[in-house]
Amino acid sequence: MTATEAERAHVSDSVREYDVIIIGAGAAGLHAIYRLRGQGLNTICLEAGDGVGGTWYWNRYPGARVDIESVEYSYTFSEELQQEWEWPERYSAQPELMRYFNHVADRFDLRRSIEFNSRVATAHFNESEDRWDVETTDGRRFSAQYLVMATGFLSAPNQPKFPGQDSFRGKTYHTAYWPAEGVDFSGQRVGIIGTGSSAVQAIPIIAQQAKHLTVFQRTPNFSVPLRNGPLSKEFEAKVKANYPEWRRMEREESFTGMIWINERPEGMVTKLTTETTPEEREAMYEDRWKNGGICFYNIYPDTFTDPVANGYLAEFMRNKIREKVNDPEVAELLCPKDYPVLTKRLCADTNYYETYNRDNVTLVDIRGKEVGLNEKGVAVDGEGYELDAVIFATGFDALTGALTRIDLRGIDGRSLNDHWSEGARTAYGLMIAGFPNLFLINGPGSPTPLFQPVLLGEEQGNWFGDWISYMAENGYTRIDAAPETEDQWVQRCTDVINATLFPKARSWYMGANIPGKPSMGLVDFGGIWNYRKYCTDLLPDGFPGFTLSNGAQQAGRAEMHAGAATAA
Ligand code: NAP
Repeated sequence: MTATEAERAHVSDSVREYDVIIIGAGAAGLHAIYRLRGQGLNTICLEAGDGVGGTWYWNRYPGARVDIESVEYSYTFSEELQQEWEWPERYSAQPELMRYFNHVADRFDLRRSIEFNSRVATAHFNESEDRWDVETTDGRRFSAQYLVMATGFLSAPNQPKFPGQDSFRGKTYHTAYWPAEGVDFSGQRVGIIGTGSSAVQAIPIIAQQAKHLTVFQRTPNFSVPLRNGPLSKEFEAKVKANYPEWRRMEREESFTGMIWINERPEGMVTKLTTETTPEEREAMYEDRWKNGGICFYNIYPDTFTDPVANGYLAEFMRNKIREKVNDPEVAELLCPKDYPVLTKRLCADTNYYETYNRDNVTLVDIRGKEVGLNEKGVAVDGEGYELDAVIFATGFDALTGALTRIDLRGIDGRSLNDHWSEGARTAYGLMIAGFPNLFLINGPGSPTPLFQPVLLGEEQGNWFGDWISYMAENGYTRIDAAPETEDQWVQRCTDVINATLFPKARSWYMGANIPGKPSMGLVDFGGIWNYRKYCTDLLPDGFPGFTLSNGAQQAGRAEMHAGAATAA
């Protein structure tokens, strides 16, 4: 924090006081600073790292690269920024994303509102003041009326503890905590556990460097070629000539916030697989395969609900794997067969399957087997693999982990972990009942991660800005979701997801990748349009299903109960 910002903070008993505390300086947090500070709120952002970028700051493993087109995975709030920024590649690599987020932080003078190296340990709601008391792990204390959790949905790494792990004499790494200086695996025998998006990006690069790479796979994933390359100047000019219209389409005509397929804008597919001929659907699949990346999420909608329709696409993808991998046994091991395609997050790769044709790469199937480490390497059902380094590409405690790892306490000192003991519960993915004045960005119960998170993060930040203005203008100091509103939202998300094939996969969308985590739909799959309408109607409708009050008027708070929401 600069001297100017320190001066602005009202300091009492070494507690620094603000209107708003934002936790996290990733994509959503940076925009929240821009928006909330921009409307005159005294704002501080507490960031655990020593730089901006959030997930992209930490995930520096070899090959880390976004799999959404750069012209889409970027801010929309400034047309000047959209016009002036030049993306060198279709899909930005981690260093390029860092260059972008650092540029945004400087261009909009956001750094003076960020306190780096500030990991939040506790956040307790102070009921007599209607404020949040926040403390960092090193004991710095802050207070604010509003707490904005821009903590990221893939930011709490999952680090399973394997038996014997501490006895391993070689080096261990986690993809989400990669050393900033990089790692040279030349001449080493390397093992990697996990075959999700992080692993499929890292494996081809590490295989080129290591003496030998052993991949330990529990569940194969469907992966599509990314087809990264330089961003064509013609395409860039086409996008920039009409950016506001493309952004409108991303928001309003796309289920995912992504519209570009083979450099043409395409809204949501409405035709069903069952209405197509085999030739027609094959052409659609090939079109998406040719584009690369995760545009496959824009596909016949019954792919998400009808096992037969889903099976056509799954077999198309399995055949692509079989074409690429020389050894038929290895190819079959790499083919997912026991869950529907797209229900675990699709991966996008550069030469992932081809890497298994190398002499220095071995695939080991660990499904249902005992996996442990010993001083020499990894053991699978007692069979040893001697290694110099082991990489854990074991993913994240997605959507909830970054929240539950903070000691968050709301009304009556109730902890978030208690409140969520049977599963994450939110109202519209925006608030948690009993945790007043706490706002979630890209939280559980929102359409993220199916919808493009940079876009949704901006929208949610804007809604909270409007809500805070409304509160101030109307003399309210506290807003809380009613428990029934949360019940209804959880029920809605559950009903919608149960009508799809998503529950058939053990995915992080369902919380099923973390042992002991309650399995439930953590994402609103009900369509961004519906979600946006629910959320944007709240303010003009007087916040049905929320309680707004003014602590200053104590003795029988002036409460406004507008009744439970009719979210279902
Ligand atoms: P992930 O997709 O959850 O993959 C984790 C892998 O580790 C899985 O293969 C999992 O196997 C395995 N695993 C976990 N615990 C294990 C255990 N105890 N024993 C053996 N194997 C274990 O995690 P990720 O690859 O880090 O990706 C997470 C998400 O981040 C992605 O889905 C994507 O949304 C995002 N991401 C995006 C990009 C990009 O934009 N290009 C890149 C990286 C990540 P099971 O499947 O059997 O559980």
